[in-house]
Amino acid sequence: MRTRKPNFEISIQPEAIWDLIYAVTESAIVPPLLMRENRKRIDHYKKFLKQPKRRNTPPNIIFSSTGLEISGFLLGSIIYSDKRSYIVERAIPSVSANRSDDWVESNYQSKLLTHRLNRHASQERKVIGNFHSHPEVDKSPNFVEGHRLNRPSEADLSFSKYDRTIDLVITISSTEDRCRNYRLNENSDQIACFSYMSFYYWVCGHKNRVQVPVNIPSSI
Ligand SMILES: [Zn+2]
Repeated sequence: MRTRKPNFEISIQPEAIWDLIYAVTESAIVPPLLMRENRKRIDHYKKFLKQPKRRNTPPNIIFSSTGLEISGFLLGSIIYSDKRSYIVERAIPSVSANRSDDWVESNYQSKLLTHRLNRHASQERKVIGNFHSHPEVDKSPNFVEGHRLNRPSEADLSFSKYDRTIDLVITISSTEDRCRNYRLNENSDQIACFSYMSFYYWVCGHKNRVQVPVNIPSSI
C-alpha cells in the first residue's frame, strides 16, 4: 500500500466509534466462546443429520474458534474543501456478509438495501464506505503492530472499490499482563488507535490502494 501526502481524511464521530467498538468486539469475543461451549451441539447436529425426518431444526452452530471477521457500511457525509473529508456518523454491521477463511465482504444486495433505508431517513447522510474487522484478541499489541496485522491485506486492497467510497480496517487486540506497559505510537502511519477496557483498537483507512489518515474523537 502506498502512502502519499494526503488530500483525503476520515473523521469518525463518537456514535460511529461506539458502533465499531461493539460490532468488532462482539464478533471477536463471542464466537470463540460459543465454539468452546457448544461442542455438544455439534454432536447433536451430527446425530440430526442422520435423522432427516426429525421435525425440530438443529441448534445454531458457529464455526469459528478465532473470532469472526465482521463487515458493514459507513454512513455519513463528504465535505469538500482544500481536502476531501469523509465524516463517518454511523457504522452499520452487515449480518449476511460473504466470508471465507481470510476475507469478508458485505454483499451487493445489503449495500442496495442500506442505501434505500438510509435515503428514506435522511437526504444528507450517505453510504460513504465499508468497514471490516481483524479479530486478533489472541495476540498482543506488540505482535499485531510487528506483523502489520492492523493494515489491509492484499485481498482487502484488491476488493477495495475504485469509486468515491472509503474502506476502514478495525483491528482488535487484547491487553495482557505481559504487554500492559506497552504504549502505542499514536502517530504511527496515520493509523488511529485507542484502548478501551482491556482491548486495543486500530483504525486504518484506505482508498484506491492509498492510505488515508483517520481522526477519532479525543475521548470516548
Ligand atoms: Zn482484512
